[in-house]
Amino acid sequence: MTIQTTRPATHPDSPEGLEVRPQTSVLAELADRIAGDVLGPGDHGYDEARTGFNLLADHRPAVIAVPANRHDVIEVVRFAADEGLRVAIQATGHGPGSAADGALLINTSKMTDVSVDPAARTATVAAGAKWAPVLAQAQEHGLAPLLGSTTDVGVVGYTLGGGFGWLGRKYGLSSDAVRSFDIVTPDGNPLRVSATSHPDIFWALRGGGSGSLGVITDVVIDLFPVSTVYAGNLFYSAEDAPEVLRRFAEWAPQQSEDLTSAVTVMNFPPLDIVPEPFRGKTFTLVRGCWSGDVADGARVIDEWRQWKTPEVDLWAEMPFAAADAISMDPTDPLPAMVTTEWLDELPDAAIDIVVDRVRPKPGTLPLVLFAEIRHAGGAVARGAATSPNDRGREGTFLLELASMVPDPHVGLAVESALRLTRKALEPYVTGAAYLNFVEFDEKTARSATSFSEDNHRRLVAIKAALDPENRFCHGVALH
Ligand SMILES: Cc1cc2nc3c(=O)[nH]c(=O)nc-3n(C[C@H](O)[C@H](O)[C@H](O)COP(=O)(O)OP(=O)(O)OC[C@H]3O[C@@H](n4cnc5c(N)ncnc54)[C@H](O)[C@@H]3O)c2cc1C
Repeated sequence: MTIQTTRPATHPDSPEGLEVRPQTSVLAELADRIAGDVLGPGDHGYDEARTGFNLLADHRPAVIAVPANRHDVIEVVRFAADEGLRVAIQATGHGPGSAADGALLINTSKMTDVSVDPAARTATVAAGAKWAPVLAQAQEHGLAPLLGSTTDVGVVGYTLGGGFGWLGRKYGLSSDAVRSFDIVTPDGNPLRVSATSHPDIFWALRGGGSGSLGVITDVVIDLFPVSTVYAGNLFYSAEDAPEVLRRFAEWAPQQSEDLTSAVTVMNFPPLDIVPEPFRGKTFTLVRGCWSGDVADGARVIDEWRQWKTPEVDLWAEMPFAAADAISMDPTDPLPAMVTTEWLDELPDAAIDIVVDRVRPKPGTLPLVLFAEIRHAGGAVARGAATSPNDRGREGTFLLELASMVPDPHVGLAVESALRLTRKALEPYVTGAAYLNFVEFDEKTARSATSFSEDNHRRLVAIKAALDPENRFCHGVALH
């Protein structure tokens, strides 16, 4: 345990009445109360603890607590309440909210317990655990969790924002599969919430309250009987993009819920980690996962092969344990920007905008790394009726735009490329945000669009009862 705070941590952004009192003695008191670490600016380990997967998040908390267990979380949250500190939460840093400057950052990355109960078909997952161990343990019993495109993301953060993965159309979002949350409320009260215990808080957390209603210490989730799938990517050329997207817009809605699929225009970076023949080239990908009978899945993808032979064909039977191979997401930290829109339909005009903005013009470097359009509907849309983020899951197609910012000097150019693409798409989108695909201040600014008016009102009331001072203000905005 380290305490070496030597300079004031008061931050200009601290709301009135919530100034940070950084005296060494105050932090030492917290350090004495917990088994984990307490780190102030300048402490060894402070930079590592504030840095997450997305390197664009360069926040400077007044203090970072790295709890070792649930008891620590309770103590830290009570400390924050006594001191009037704003609280931010970080597990992996894949989905940063507004900068935690001057706040108390709870870094849950040391709380990684995972246990699978094959008889009950559930997994109990602690705050800092990623999907990788959950998937591995579940697959030993022929079971699968509703993870997303990568096993590197945190289970809790992903689930609080909804959680749309390759089994989504069949089984719904990850938030639908939650049996209970253990939460420490902003006043430091530990509660287990479920459909029968504190049902209002339970409802709010299943897609609506990421980072704003308290700290989740554990979640119990359902597992599903999925072991072998037919999954992968067809690689068509960059030139084929308009045709492939048009075909996907008609084809995907006709498919059964055994298939969750997407079409992606991808500018593979010219980096050594990208294998030839993809390095530095643009492709149009038809990707997804079929979780029904494998032979049926192969027949469905054959329709594409017969339409046009892809340049590379990686669709194959595979264990769901290998699900990372579908999206091939990066696993090393990087500076990235992400944004999103929902569309009910994919008209030609919208397709042309996406292709035009993502495919680099000859002689130019791409500002948007990829545009992925996931086909939703099915259980994703059906679950809207019982979820807080009803508007943020009802559309037919979910567009994700992502960029890398390898040099801070191009940050503004990338940001405006993403903003202008969204602006051009305005006539075709529903206006709702998918909360897992918005980050930084955009998460706060667009939170409300994810909820219907009634649900928003209900969420705001729940938030006001739990956190009247809005000290948990770095995640989804609920006011
Ligand atoms: C490479 C990549 C692939 C992705 N693929 C998908 C995908 O397929 N589908 C999808 O839906 N999303 C996907 N996402 C988005 C991802 O689900 C979100 O970014 C999610 O918020 C990440 O959660 P985390 O805990 O890993 O990240 P963090 O940045 O650590 O946390 C994200 C937010 O969650 C909240 N939070 C985290 N832990 C707690 C806690 N214990 N209590 C309360 N609040 C907490 C906080 O507000 C925090 O700001 C992807 C992101 C990346 C970078």
